[in-house]
Amino acid sequence: MSQRILITGITGFVGSHLADLALEKDCIVYGLKRWNLSRMRNVKHLLDKVNWIDCDITDPISVKKALTISKPEKIFHLAAESFVSPSWDHPSHYMDVNYKGTVNILEAMRELDLKSKILIPGSGEEYGEILEKDLPITETSLLKPVNPYAVTKIAQDLIAQVYFITYGINVIRLRSFNHEGPRRDNVFGIPSFAYQIARIEEGLQEAVIETGHIEDKRNFTHIEDLVEAYWLAIENCVPGELYLIGSDEPEKIFTYRDIIHKLISLSSIKDIQIKQISKYTRPTSVPRLIGDSSKFRTITGWKPKYDIDKILIDTLNYWREFIKNNSY
Ligand code: NDP
Repeated sequence: MSQRILITGITGFVGSHLADLALEKDCIVYGLKRWNLSRMRNVKHLLDKVNWIDCDITDPISVKKALTISKPEKIFHLAAESFVSPSWDHPSHYMDVNYKGTVNILEAMRELDLKSKILIPGSGEEYGEILEKDLPITETSLLKPVNPYAVTKIAQDLIAQVYFITYGINVIRLRSFNHEGPRRDNVFGIPSFAYQIARIEEGLQEAVIETGHIEDKRNFTHIEDLVEAYWLAIENCVPGELYLIGSDEPEKIFTYRDIIHKLISLSSIKDIQIKQISKYTRPTSVPRLIGDSSKFRTITGWKPKYDIDKILIDTLNYWREFIKNNSY
C-alpha cells in the first residue's frame, strides 16, 4: 500500500526534490504551502500530484489541522528560514520559524499521538568556528555557532531531542553540510554565481560576478544524492541519534573562489571578472565546514553518485533555462 508522506517546506529547494523522489516511489504526498506567500515556481510540475494543505508552521492551529488531514506515516520537516545572511537582522523571526515552528509540529504529533517518524535536518553551520586541526567535524565536535541562523538550528535540534527523550516522538536527527543543484534560490553562493554567468551569457549583465567573501571552504553534495540520503535516513536511522551528512573526501572540498573559477570554465565567455562587494559580506564567516559522515554511511549504505562538475553543470543549466524563459 502507498505510504502517506508529509513534506513541510515542499516549495523550497530540498522539499521539491524530495517530493519528486517520493512520487517516484508511489507515495501519497501531502505538502504544506502558505496560502498567500509560498513561492510555487519549484513545484509547478507538481501542482496536481501533491495534496496541498495551507499551513504556516508558526501557527499551531494550522499545524495541528495539517497533521490531522494528512495522517502521515513519515514527515520530512524541511520548512525553515534557511539563508544565513538575513538572520542577523531577523533573529527573532528565524527563531519563530525554525524553533517555534518545530515545537508546533512536535507538540501536534504528541497531542495527536502520531507514531510517524519525523526527519529534521540540522546544519553544519551549527559547528561554526572550527579550527583546521579539528577537521573533519564529527557528531561529537563542539558546537560554536557564529550566526543567528545556526543558533536557531541548534535550538530546533535540541528541542526535537527533548521530545524524543520525554515523549518518545520518533525524531531522526541530522546535521547536513552544503547541498546544491537546480532550484536552490539565487541568494545562495553557487546559484548566485551560476545565475550571474547565465545573465552574462545572455548579454544582460556586464562580465563581472559580484560576490561576498569567497575564501570559505565547504564540502558539496548534489541534491539528488542528498534526497536519497534523507530517504535512507528516515528508513534506517535510529530515532534520537545524531548523524552527519556530507563528505570529507578531498575531491568534494572547495572554496567558493575555486567554484567560481570552475563555473567560468564551463562558460563560453572566459574573461569574466570577480568583484567582492561589501554588502554581500557577512558580519562573521565560517572558514571551513567539512563533515565526516561515516556513521551515517555505515548504517544506511549511502554512497553519493555525483561529483562537483555535475553539481555545477546542472546548476548552470538550470539558470540558463530560467533566464531564457524570462522567469526574472
Ligand atoms: P529553502 O529556503 O529552499 O526552503 C525553505 C522552505 O520553508 C520553503 O518551502 C518555504 O516555503 C518554507 N517555509 C519558510 N517559512 C515557513 C513558514 N512559516 N511556514 C511554512 N513553511 C515555511 O531551504 P532548503 O530547502 O535549502 O532547506 C531545507 C532544510 O534543510 C532547512 O531546514 C535548512 O535549514 C536545512 N539545510 C539546508 C542546507 C542546504 O545546503 N540547502 C544545509 C543544511 C541544512 P515558502 O515558499 O512558503 O516560503
